[in-house]
Amino acid sequence: MKIKHIDHIGIAVKSIEEGKKFFADILGLKFEKTEVIEEQKVKTGFLPITDSELELLESTEPDGPVAKFIEARGQGVQHIAFRVENLDEALAELKEKGVRLIDQEPRKGAGGARIAFIHPKETSGVLVELCEKG
Ligand code: ZN
Repeated sequence: MKIKHIDHIGIAVKSIEEGKKFFADILGLKFEKTEVIEEQKVKTGFLPITDSELELLESTEPDGPVAKFIEARGQGVQHIAFRVENLDEALAELKEKGVRLIDQEPRKGAGGARIAFIHPKETSGVLVELCEKG
């Protein structure tokens, strides 16, 4: 598979409004916009840095995956996303190699991306997202 670059780093926060203050006001990164991904029970906010982004993640429901992450580990880096050229090919390759996946098939991510998560047991505990953007 062809990994192009680190697409974004996902950071779990209790509040995007609060969380973005440091990155936008102190570091001067541009805060782009928020987007709600209903299926994931999450609101996302992106701050681009060259060809990567920070993705702030705020749970929209008390039982959402981001809320559970914060409950267990506190706020902080939740996942790293690699941009791939072809997500279907990448998933097929990983399945062939016997790698455990959270998503067997691509699902819809923020900004119209197609995404899939690899099981953290395979990645030294880091939740890795693969994403493909048109
Ligand atoms: Zn992500």
